Amino acid sequence: MRLALLADIHANREAFEAVLARLATQRIDRVVLLGDIVGYGPDPEFCTEKAAELVDKGALAVIGNHDAAIDGDSSDMNARARAAIDFTRNRLGAEHRTFLAGLDDTATEGEAFFVHASARAPRSWEYVTGRPQAERSIRACPTRLSIVGHVHSPHLWRLNTAGVATGHVPVAGMEIPLAKSQVWLAVMGAVGQPRDGNPAAAYGILDLARGTLLFERAPYDHFTTARKVREAGLPHELADRLGRGR
Ligand code: ZN
Repeated sequence: MRLALLADIHANREAFEAVLARLATQRIDRVVLLGDIVGYGPDPEFCTEKAAELVDKGALAVIGNHDAAIDGDSSDMNARARAAIDFTRNRLGAEHRTFLAGLDDTATEGEAFFVHASARAPRSWEYVTGRPQAERSIRACPTRLSIVGHVHSPHLWRLNTAGVATGHVPVAGMEIPLAKSQVWLAVMGAVGQPRDGNPAAAYGILDLARGTLLFERAPYDHFTTARKVREAGLPHELADRLGRGR
């Protein structure tokens, strides 16, 4: 079973399409959408409809904080995120909103557990940005392999024999063997709004039979997306950061 891992698409049509075009050339059994299909970007309708189409064809999808905020509470978000949620609410119809609100908190496929932010209280949206957060998420995870998004910057954590999490930034394009005797937590980079200094869309391929994880990048036309962000009247910072990848 080979799974494509897509986190934080964030209504970025060009990035989403670039990743799907790559996947069409790779042998993939199932797509996993790790949340935040919308928010920040200019194409929430397209991305929601494409996500729903993938789910119809067997994709797994979990809810992100931006997806949940469309029909929920956005008061604890920063001003830029809130502005994007207001824009997104105005653009989406009832069907889009029902799809996003109905996404599950978590999903599993074999030994792999999927959640947007952290396995510890999925709806508290804790960022796995360091060792304590990684250890909390790993302890709450029912399997030995968990995959999250939310941080927008790839990282691979492993629990050592002393129960301490150690992590590193994985190199794109290198398949990493995930030893069966160990406990792993992979933070996937973002498809639609990378924050690790590389503007290319980030995604991953998890091969459950071989026990390997590949972090990948797909360059896309972020200039077009940035223009659409500005034309949509969204905060300009949301356009500028696409080119910086930060
Ligand atoms: Zn996000």
